Amino acid sequence: MKCVKCRDKAVVHIRRHNSAFCSVCFQQYFTNQVARTIKEDRMFTHDDRVLVAVSGGKDSLALWDVLLNLGYDTAGLHIHQGIFAYSAASFEKTTRFAEGRGVKLITIDLAAEGDLDIPGVASSTRRTQCSACGVIKRHYFNKVAVEGGFTILATGHNLDDEAARLLGNVLRWQSAYLAAQSPVLEATHPRLAKKVKPLYRLSEYETAAYAFLRGIDYIVEECPFSHDAIQLHYKEALNQLEHRSPGTKQSFVQGFMREGRKAFAATTSVQLKVCSSCGYPTTGDVCGFCRLQQEVHKAKAGARK
Ligand code: AMP
Ligand code: ZN
Repeated sequence: MKCVKCRDKAVVHIRRHNSAFCSVCFQQYFTNQVARTIKEDRMFTHDDRVLVAVSGGKDSLALWDVLLNLGYDTAGLHIHQGIFAYSAASFEKTTRFAEGRGVKLITIDLAAEGDLDIPGVASSTRRTQCSACGVIKRHYFNKVAVEGGFTILATGHNLDDEAARLLGNVLRWQSAYLAAQSPVLEATHPRLAKKVKPLYRLSEYETAAYAFLRGIDYIVEECPFSHDAIQLHYKEALNQLEHRSPGTKQSFVQGFMREGRKAFAATTSVQLKVCSSCGYPTTGDVCGFCRLQQEVHKAKAGARK
């Protein structure tokens, strides 16, 4: 098969667009897609300071790479989760990338933040690793962005992630989650950063191909706890549908953004308050992060008695 742009030998085949690209033209296509998404979805401009949440995986490193090539003002944020060899390797891949590009990386070490490393939190509270990790990561993503004067927090979620999340939310008709599922979440409070997902129109296959062709060294292993099995089943089911009918994931996600989300957003109104403990916005009196932190402290105090 030949590249649709230059007729050279194609190395990446995108079935949903019925097109194929050589290495150089694919990188150009990928970069253009990200640039277009940022513009069309009004994510940010070259005047914004963008904090990119980088895990050391292919998606977030590919995202940071593209944003740097497009000349955006960025810094990276890596959360060291204390998950044994997996976190050590993730940290190493992320720091190597930042050093190689000469760009700023902020690191939060959860073990040093009052024993918030994920294995410790899961064993001292009754939470699963994944639910604790989600609450903690979201808190630091926002806090570091707000306190560091960043106007934007960008994550590497791709089309497969968004389609799987949408399917899960639809199967259980989680209307509040459906109302909030968007590649752009505006800063509706002075202590909330605007959150964006510039890769949401590109598939996991495309981000993997981009990272590989750019020579980005990323962590291939999945988090040993991440077998948030249900999410993986949704991805498998969507892959089967996509195989039969290329473009399914894209029309599912983009159709929802165009047609569905508005309807859910219109029925849900969220009243934001300020957490009495940390001062960040929440819907209750004390935010989920502070409640988790209190549980960890209580468990530690109990263990010392
Ligand atoms: P996940 O929830 O692991 O699929 O990750 C989704 C996105 O969250 C990634 O693309 C990153 O942008 C961000 N992310 C995940 N883990 C970390 C981490 N340990 N540090 C910083 N950002 C992360
Ligand atoms: Zn709080």
